[in-house]
Amino acid sequence: MRDDAALVMFSGGQDSATCLAWALDRFAHVETLGFEYGQRHVVELACRDALRAGMASPHLGPDHMLAVPTLAVIGGSALTEDAAIAMREDGLPNTFVPGRNLVFFTLAAALAVRRGIRHIIGGMCETDYSGYPDCRDDTIKALQATINLGMNTRLVLHTPLMWLDKAATWRMAQALGGAPLVELIRVQSHSCYQGVRDVLHPWGHGCGECPACDLRARGWAAYAGG
Ligand code: ZN
Repeated sequence: MRDDAALVMFSGGQDSATCLAWALDRFAHVETLGFEYGQRHVVELACRDALRAGMASPHLGPDHMLAVPTLAVIGGSALTEDAAIAMREDGLPNTFVPGRNLVFFTLAAALAVRRGIRHIIGGMCETDYSGYPDCRDDTIKALQATINLGMNTRLVLHTPLMWLDKAATWRMAQALGGAPLVELIRVQSHSCYQGVRDVLHPWGHGCGECPACDLRARGWAAYAGG
């Protein structure tokens, strides 16, 4: 198992793009992993190639894509069904996909074992997030323990954005790759739940109205203005 290799859970959004740059700065060999789970904003996955090309490096290894259609079969989330985005009775937005990150980390760990990779990187954040319980630091730490017990491994789950707000995530990109990396992520990464790509705002592409666009726009304003 290579201690100098990392697998980045790479959706093509701002957070995972920043995580890819972070990993390329720290590990000799970096592979990426995307999940196709029936998300309405599947356009996000098309952004992955452009981001990988923009961060091309001798350290950047192969890309992997896993199909996880089961989450959409189970249903019940506005991310996988044509439902209006709203708050649930328990205070969580209905964009929450129950079990998503639990499944993703388990599959990422299985792939990492298969590839001989010790480090797994995810863009989860509980600073200015939507309250998704599977993005919390405690969840990820518990998953690391569970995965290592269940797979007889010593994998390390890294979440470099956990305690950063979106403005700080832009500053991390600036520190890692300067203006060219910020511009690459601004133009090529995708956050919008509605999958809108035809409008380029100062903060990137999106509908400008969904919760993901709202969070991204406010983060960019705080970064660019401060
Ligand atoms: Zn949007």
